[in-house]
Amino acid sequence: MIRQYRVGWLFTISGTPIQDATLLVEDGRILGVEEGEAGPAATDLRNWAVMPALVNAHTHLEFSHLTQPLGTEGMSFPQWITEVIRYRQGFGEDIAREKAVAIHDGLKQSASHGVGAVGEIATLPLTEASYAQSDVHVVSLLEVLGLDPDRVTQGLARAEEHALYPWSQPNVSAGVSPHAPYSLKREVVEHCVSLSAAKGLPLAMHLAETTQELELLEEGTGPFRVMLDNMGLFRTEDFPGGRRVLDYLKLLAPAYRAMVVHGNYLSEHEIAFLAEHAETMSVCYCPRTHAYFHHDPHPIEELLAQGVPVVLGTDSRSSNPDLNLWKEVQHVQREFPDIPESQLLNMVTRDAAFALGIEDVFGTIERGKSARVAAFPIVPDTPDVLSAMLAGQPRLWNLDGELSEFDLATA
Ligand SMILES: [Zn+2]
Repeated sequence: MIRQYRVGWLFTISGTPIQDATLLVEDGRILGVEEGEAGPAATDLRNWAVMPALVNAHTHLEFSHLTQPLGTEGMSFPQWITEVIRYRQGFGEDIAREKAVAIHDGLKQSASHGVGAVGEIATLPLTEASYAQSDVHVVSLLEVLGLDPDRVTQGLARAEEHALYPWSQPNVSAGVSPHAPYSLKREVVEHCVSLSAAKGLPLAMHLAETTQELELLEEGTGPFRVMLDNMGLFRTEDFPGGRRVLDYLKLLAPAYRAMVVHGNYLSEHEIAFLAEHAETMSVCYCPRTHAYFHHDPHPIEELLAQGVPVVLGTDSRSSNPDLNLWKEVQHVQREFPDIPESQLLNMVTRDAAFALGIEDVFGTIERGKSARVAAFPIVPDTPDVLSAMLAGQPRLWNLDGELSEFDLATA
């Protein structure tokens, strides 16, 4: 059955916005976009602006039951990591089930904010129930930790298993996430990159997140050294000093897609390197999490000026009050008013979908793409619709189904 919708404004992200457009949908996919007069069968949505469903490039949904971030605002990052480890230890005996409930809830929360796909960092144990019956597509990137020599081989084998697992749900695709420089041997990063390249998997790694991380790499000292010592995991061979973030960017470059998560402390050289590899590499800025830790200003403007794709993520509710991606967009708009509004949209649609390897289905409104869209109520003939959208809040619509009264309520 073909459904038709006449919308007030259509932001396809693949071309200029269209006023008064008709969308044709069949079997969960966009069939086509037409301009001007629609047939009488079209559902009248002229009080709405529509764009592709949002893509949250980075989150950890197992923390979705937290009602407030862990620790206190402005705390040191290694201190916060200790809080995270403690929280994880608080899961009960049936950890897989408890996590599944939190993840499932996180997907619901995401959908309520117009998000149709997420880059989710997955940890074991994980059950299929976590992602079942959700309107949201999950790019499940299995987290790999690897400083403990006894566990490295097992961790890598599990990442490969996760990547090749025959997910029975159509809303799941897999990827890999070597965690961060302070939790991995370099060989483990290399192995994850080979897996990504060989299997065409997206890869995401926390990198250049804190000054303490830079200190560990450059000097082999600082709060991360203390933390690793306390855990019995520090070995000089892993952190001999004299290393930089650039060394890790070089390791990541051969991946199919490599997303640098955070990139709060990237140098000019590192930004130039990312620009040279902009076809496969991107930086995920998590604005409100960045603010929570009182970091130096994010280099987003330098990155964009050099042509590096920047995408946005909420990160998890352990460092952010909610999973509302649109609030991240609004935060960036407030902090960096010189960034063009249209570029803000790319960061949570097209570029994020590409970074996660789901660009065939998400990120733009074009023939063959998902019929899940983000919709904003607007006043017809409003002079500046994009500004109105940026001041509003989207909801997630599935255009291959009946829109309910709830979907269409404007207040
Ligand atoms: Zn993260």
